[in-house]
Amino acid sequence: MKLQLLPSTFEKDGSASLKQHLASFVIDDCVALDAGSLAMSATPLQRKNIRDVVLTHAHLDHIAGLPLFVDDLFATLESPIRVHGQQEVIESLENHIFNWEIYPRFSELTNENGSVLEYHKFSIGETLAIKHLKFRSVSVNHKVPTVGFIIKDEASTIAFTSDTSKMSEFWNEVNNEKSLDAILIECAFPNGLANLAGISHHLTPKALEQELTKLRHGCPIYVINVKPMYRDSVADEISGLEIPNLSILEVGKIYEW
Ligand SMILES: [Zn+2]
Repeated sequence: MKLQLLPSTFEKDGSASLKQHLASFVIDDCVALDAGSLAMSATPLQRKNIRDVVLTHAHLDHIAGLPLFVDDLFATLESPIRVHGQQEVIESLENHIFNWEIYPRFSELTNENGSVLEYHKFSIGETLAIKHLKFRSVSVNHKVPTVGFIIKDEASTIAFTSDTSKMSEFWNEVNNEKSLDAILIECAFPNGLANLAGISHHLTPKALEQELTKLRHGCPIYVINVKPMYRDSVADEISGLEIPNLSILEVGKIYEW
């Protein structure tokens, strides 16, 4: 399984910044996990292949690129873009984004080949079969309805928290897996902003350290969804934890398991 975080924020010379605003991960160049920067940064191959977008929750940094992605492809789609989300996430998109005011309600529009956008609703605990991948949705602990996933192909298994505060069910599910190749876990704020992290249901490096005591696998651990304004201090505090298999996921890099 290959996974890549698409870039959304750039340095003066055009290279990807370490300080990323948006979350969109592409798996095997054909399935998008969240859509923050999907329209802006997908490669031509990814744009051609991706017809399934799996959403963890409806916060803007995870969906910002979705309306433009559908818009870009509107005239050329031969099959609809399938957006997989919980009921609450789909409702948020229809009420607040695809509402004819912010953007067209693509779910009601067609091109010459038919529908351009379809919603596929799932519940927590459900396993989605998408292409050659299986996504099992798992409860996490964020301010709005949010899921993490245990994602498998024939050869490998990874776990993905999306945005979250401290969790229990997620760890039970992850620890029940026979083996785990990697875990991607958020750490949004530095320790000095623990109050804000608490209110907004995010982790700090200190809280992350606590969470990782619940993990029973010895696989690589990659930090995701760091707030760009605090990236430097979060990075320092994470290296201060001295956990050898823990690092921040690099934007643009292709990880393979
Ligand atoms: Zn969020």
